[in-house]
Amino acid sequence: MNYDELLAFFKKLDRSAFIDNEYKPYSGVDEALPIGYGQTISQPSLVVEMTRLLGPEKDSRVLEIGTGSGYQTALLAEFSGQVFTVERIQELSVKAQDRLEEMGYKNIVFKVGDGSEGWEENAPYDRIMVTAAASELPQELIDQLKPGGRMVIPVGPPDMQELVLVTKDMKDEVDSEVIEHVRFVELHGKYGWREPNF
Ligand code: SAM
Repeated sequence: MNYDELLAFFKKLDRSAFIDNEYKPYSGVDEALPIGYGQTISQPSLVVEMTRLLGPEKDSRVLEIGTGSGYQTALLAEFSGQVFTVERIQELSVKAQDRLEEMGYKNIVFKVGDGSEGWEENAPYDRIMVTAAASELPQELIDQLKPGGRMVIPVGPPDMQELVLVTKDMKDEVDSEVIEHVRFVELHGKYGWREPNF
């Protein structure tokens, strides 16, 4: 992925198209904003940084956990071959699907369910992007990463987490690097903080 192309796309992507509530006028602010159901659209500068760290390629198969508004999904779809995105809240998934189809993306597959378990049927993935905070690195997701793959995931308690870049080499050896401190909503589910309440 070319960073200049990522930045150019990021600048022209209209974030307000992903917000349909009273926070729409604040879409230009570099902050996470509420999107309903206790969830947020991610902070723009963090979305672009996480995409840079993930480094998808044109033919990458990418798993995203936490579709949310679909804002991060748009960047992934623009710079990858195929995106598989999982969201536990049906209403958010449906809205994101409508938006991204309207924008013309045909390389995204949506699922409503517990993404802490990954999406076994379509594994393995070249890249995995997690946009909710896990209590620990989920082994299920590491197992669904291809040799040579990368995962970006916030790990830690609800008030503050470490953003971790996980890499798997061609011999299946896994390495993890803490990049910075971040604050995301919780990853729920079997391998998250709580059991899902679908
Ligand atoms: N990147 C998204 C955006 O910019 O709109 C924001 C994602 S929001 C910070 C995190 C999302 O993860 C929420 O929509 C939440 O419902 C979802 N989530 C939490 N636990 C999940 C799970 N186990 N499986 C799938 N989605 C989950």
